[in-house]
Amino acid sequence: MVRTWSTEQGRDETCEKCGSVYEVHITRFPGRDADKFNCDVCGHLMREWNDTESPSFRLKTRGTPPGASPPKARSARPRP
Ligand SMILES: [Zn+2]
Repeated sequence: MVRTWSTEQGRDETCEKCGSVYEVHITRFPGRDADKFNCDVCGHLMREWNDTESPSFRLKTRGTPPGASPPKARSARPRP
C-alpha cells in the first residue's frame, strides 16, 4: 500500500495580537518541512515548525490589528 499525503482538519487558531481567526489544516509530508507563518493581518508570528507535519492557515475572520482604527460606517459624515 502506498502512503499518500494526508490532510486533516485541524482546529481554529486565533491570533493573539489582532484576534484574526484562522482555520488550520495539518498536512503530512514525506519529508521534513521547516517554515513559519505570520498573521496576514498584523504580521504576528503565529507558528514556526520543523516537522513532517506542516500546518496551512486560512483566514476565516479578519481581526483588528493593534493601533488600527476600528471599521467605520461608510456613510459617516462630519457632524456640525
Ligand atoms: Zn494578527
